[in-house]
Amino acid sequence: MKIRTIRNVKNLAGKRVLLRVDLNVPIEGGRIKDDYKIVAVLPTVRYLLRHNAKIIIATHLDNGNTAEPVAKRLGRLLGKKILFISECVGQRVKQAAVKMIPKDVIFLENLRFNNGEEKNDKKFAKALAGLAEIYVNDAFGVNHRNHASLAAIKKYLPAYAGLLLEKEVINLSKVLSPTKPLVAIIGGAKIQTKINLINNLAKRSERILIGGALANNFIAAHGFKIGKSLADKSSIRLAAALAKKHKNIILPVDVLVAKKINSANFQVKPVNQVKADEVILDIGPRTVKLFVSFIKKAKTIIWNGPMGYFENEHFKHGTLAIARVVAARSTGQAFGVVGGGETIEALKLTKMEHYIDWISTGGGAMLAFLAGEPMPGLKGIVK
Ligand code: ADP
Ligand code: MG
Repeated sequence: MKIRTIRNVKNLAGKRVLLRVDLNVPIEGGRIKDDYKIVAVLPTVRYLLRHNAKIIIATHLDNGNTAEPVAKRLGRLLGKKILFISECVGQRVKQAAVKMIPKDVIFLENLRFNNGEEKNDKKFAKALAGLAEIYVNDAFGVNHRNHASLAAIKKYLPAYAGLLLEKEVINLSKVLSPTKPLVAIIGGAKIQTKINLINNLAKRSERILIGGALANNFIAAHGFKIGKSLADKSSIRLAAALAKKHKNIILPVDVLVAKKINSANFQVKPVNQVKADEVILDIGPRTVKLFVSFIKKAKTIIWNGPMGYFENEHFKHGTLAIARVVAARSTGQAFGVVGGGETIEALKLTKMEHYIDWISTGGGAMLAFLAGEPMPGLKGIVK
């Protein structure tokens, strides 16, 4: 594998660089709730500054949020004045771009305010490209998307990976070409979003440990009752097919059940004794032990998806136990990779996130990469 990165650019000095980042941070009432994505791109921005580039930064945000608070926070983290422009293309942006001097930073408005972005529109890509001389992609979290600022733009500018993108690709590739044995731990909610992932990882894994609501489908496919747990017919069919194909899939042997999702009255049960009026909300202690026995033998570990409804105090322990073991084995005995929005949230509850070798900044993009799906953003940058 070869990655063209910003370190391959001979002379960045005085060059206008269009830096595509994924700073789609959670914002509530105009306030940034978590800035880890901003912190994650600082090395690339600093590298470009050190090499006297002129930096034009572009990101997307969800929920129609403006990029202005993000620009402000980045400025504060860098200790540097950043010019925010409430557009992405057009006269005002162009004029600001030509006036830049080395080490200047301009921050553009939310890319998705332009219809062309999500349509991979050539005109929009060309207009964006017209602002700069070099394009740098450091937006791993959206590289599975065929959008103008990630795909079409490469027709118009020489393209390079930023330092975060490079690390994501190198570290996630270590899961796909693992130091063996690889153990995969997959949980969470929607099986539809994880079929390709399970298929692609099962081929490479010694064991693939399935927990969370995802496991309900497999338990039901096995013929056991799952009561009122999250699951539906088509998901159960998908699980049955996966279980038939991959004999290295390991399922929970015991579970925590309650009558209601927010009930404090729960019971630990063998997986074959769930009653019609019960909901499965966590893996049980025997399952934790079983999973840990496999995790301890791994040289590479990938974990995505909580083992239960961890947002509730009573049902967080299966997830946290697994999180702690993954953390404890990482940074030494095994190469440990963790990703997924809720999975990282759960991991942070343990305060052990620093033990993990790589925490991916890309939820959907990580799943797509590990599933071997096409990554339009990486095309032409990673070979
Ligand atoms: P990630 O974002 O880490 O990829 P998912 O989005 O796939 O993870 O799933 C996370 C959600 O799954 C969490 O909000 C968690 O509460 C939920 N979940 C996991 N197991 C269960 C369960 N047994 N019952 C209800 N919800 C569950
Ligand atoms: Mg999620």
